[in-house]
Amino acid sequence: MRARTFLAVLLATSVAAGSAFSEPRTVGLKPSLATDEAGLWDESAKAERGARQSADFNSDPELTAYVRGVTCKVATPYCDDIRVYVMDRPVSNALMAPNGYSEVWSGLMLRSTSEAELAFVLGHETAHFVENHSIEAWRAQKKRANVMLAVSAGIAIAGVAATANAPTIDAARSIQDLTNAVIDGVYLAYVASLFAFSRGNEAEADRLGFERLVAAGYAPGAAATMWRNQIAEAAASDFPRVRSRGARANIFNTHPIELERAAVLEDLAAKAAKTGELGRERYRAAIRPHLADWLKDDLTRRDFGQTLHIIDRLAATGDDLGVLEFYRGETYRRRRKDGDQEKALAAYMAASRTSDAPVAVWRELGDMQVKTGAPDAARVAYETYLANAPDAQDRWIVEASLKKLTGNPGS
Ligand SMILES: [Zn+2]
Repeated sequence: MRARTFLAVLLATSVAAGSAFSEPRTVGLKPSLATDEAGLWDESAKAERGARQSADFNSDPELTAYVRGVTCKVATPYCDDIRVYVMDRPVSNALMAPNGYSEVWSGLMLRSTSEAELAFVLGHETAHFVENHSIEAWRAQKKRANVMLAVSAGIAIAGVAATANAPTIDAARSIQDLTNAVIDGVYLAYVASLFAFSRGNEAEADRLGFERLVAAGYAPGAAATMWRNQIAEAAASDFPRVRSRGARANIFNTHPIELERAAVLEDLAAKAAKTGELGRERYRAAIRPHLADWLKDDLTRRDFGQTLHIIDRLAATGDDLGVLEFYRGETYRRRRKDGDQEKALAAYMAASRTSDAPVAVWRELGDMQVKTGAPDAARVAYETYLANAPDAQDRWIVEASLKKLTGNPGS
């Protein structure tokens, strides 16, 4: 379909969606089987089963309990209606379906610097849920012919490859790989079409999410921080197209992050009579066990400027420097720009001086010291690696590298 026709339909949808519901949903709502919402719940239940069976569902009970706890603080009194799944996907995204099934992606958790920031996102999603925005979008969609439904699903799928952090063919391919590998196409098309909210609904969700944040005792300023961080991250991208388009960092493009929205939230925070807590340390403790895996996932996006930006922000508190400096080294090692070998070496060195560095730092340090002409230091690094990782699968490779250095094949 031609773009102009689609735009016209889209605008009509937004207008129609604006006034369908005036009352928030009741707690414990279950749609009657006779209504059209029952079909929407069936679809949501299917998507929920897909999420639970997905390879990237993070089933760590402690992380799940933590996110559920934060959800309950901002979603009251709907806590028992909502089920949150953390999905290990290196893109900043969150969604909440009308049946109460909700996803928070690890890319969003990696980018949050405090519990209050996560709480704002969950409050924003809760607002979409409470105000029945998905049902409004569904009803508006039903008013169109079935052929429109098919077209919008097609557009949604095409949109996944074309949007987000996919400014080059390489990056587009990595997003495509990600979606092909971990997300069923139908499921993706469903959630993408379901969560394309109107600007009016987004503004309402920001405002109501902010109210939920403050009522739960969190710092009002955290709402804008989330957007500001994402805007800054877009500016740090390796890719001109990402830098110029602003921080449309999520692949469904459901939450176009604009300076205007950040400014509105800053204004609300300035007028808020209450102060509140950020919950920074609590948040960091909750994500610490997953930090290394999530940084490793983030590197698959191959936007090294953004990964370094994330690492800088996480390192600012002085916590987890072993893990963070190791992945800073990994970022430079993969980027391979002029001077990156030296930067990688410095980062691995910094990591090796901490107590929480992954053991792999000694192997990478050894390799980098070989490349930069420091064989004696490399030997020490390899020996340290073998001593600290006696059962490593790549032990034989490191032993071979070490033999090359010592020139003593019999040892
Ligand atoms: Zn939203």
